[in-house]
Amino acid sequence: MTRIAKQFFCFFVYLGLLLAIASYVHAAAEDAASPGFVSAPATPSSGHDSAAPDVAAPVPGKRELCASGPAPKVEDSVDLGSLDAETRVDLQCLRSSYPQITGLASDAEGLWLLLGDRGRVLYGRYAPAKSIAGGQNMAEVWDVDVRTSMADPYPLEPERPDTPYGVSPGRKRSYDFLVALYGGTPAQVNKQLVPARLVGQPLRLSSPAGMALAATDVVLVEAVRNDPQLRAFLKMEGGFMWRRIAGESRLSPHAFGIAIDLSSRLAPYWRWSKLRPHPLQFSYPPAIVDAFEQAGFIWGGKWHEYDIMHFEYRPELVCKARALRHKFAR
Ligand SMILES: [Zn+2]
Repeated sequence: MTRIAKQFFCFFVYLGLLLAIASYVHAAAEDAASPGFVSAPATPSSGHDSAAPDVAAPVPGKRELCASGPAPKVEDSVDLGSLDAETRVDLQCLRSSYPQITGLASDAEGLWLLLGDRGRVLYGRYAPAKSIAGGQNMAEVWDVDVRTSMADPYPLEPERPDTPYGVSPGRKRSYDFLVALYGGTPAQVNKQLVPARLVGQPLRLSSPAGMALAATDVVLVEAVRNDPQLRAFLKMEGGFMWRRIAGESRLSPHAFGIAIDLSSRLAPYWRWSKLRPHPLQFSYPPAIVDAFEQAGFIWGGKWHEYDIMHFEYRPELVCKARALRHKFAR
């Protein structure tokens, strides 16, 4: 190649690079301005609170002419069509239940839920989860990723199936997800609590749970009017309370303001009773359970480690149960 040809070659390469950099900076500005994008850049992290760092934009002044470098790492967006049917139902129910979820992302580790400036939470790993047999403490069995928290089908009323060992749909939770949704300290949770009422009794719940309870309240006020005996089961004994689960080290869902306890003297917790199963798991008034489930709450009476006084706001599980019921009814 002659000297003039070499100069022409370098001139066009330089021009091309300038145009590429200009278009990259423009696209980055659009991404930053658009809420709810799903192709957020990220690096692997172990928790929801590790916010995905921005991809470092190339600095024109430091880029050498005719030099090459690694392409910026950009996370894959999620192709929902490539996922299995159950994962698609899970993701649809999560997104319809929690508007805090702004997008989905995948990387070599797994599939993630993006929660805006609250970071990201693991939905599920691509690699099979490690066996839960042997060497694991109870916290690891019950504190799981979001996919595992939704894996056991929750039975909607009027279903009251047996609850042998291992059947406790909804008792496994993703604590990373709960912290991202509601906060990880008493002060953070407190900030978004709202006053609520149930059959004339005040309590405090996290905002979405409090709003959902209003629908339950309307139904139960009418139910008590028609059947005053229900009132004995509806004595308010706790909404938000920063505490651990009785007999365990993990936080109670009450600490996140998403759970309600009613009439503990009538409706026991498994650790306080010798009965397995407890007869109330089958005879507890269906009108009460149904009124809660309709609003997105699950009932602890449907767990092997039963908690008959306990209702918990888990709209994604109720959504999935409805979707599966609809599928099998066809
Ligand atoms: Zn409870």
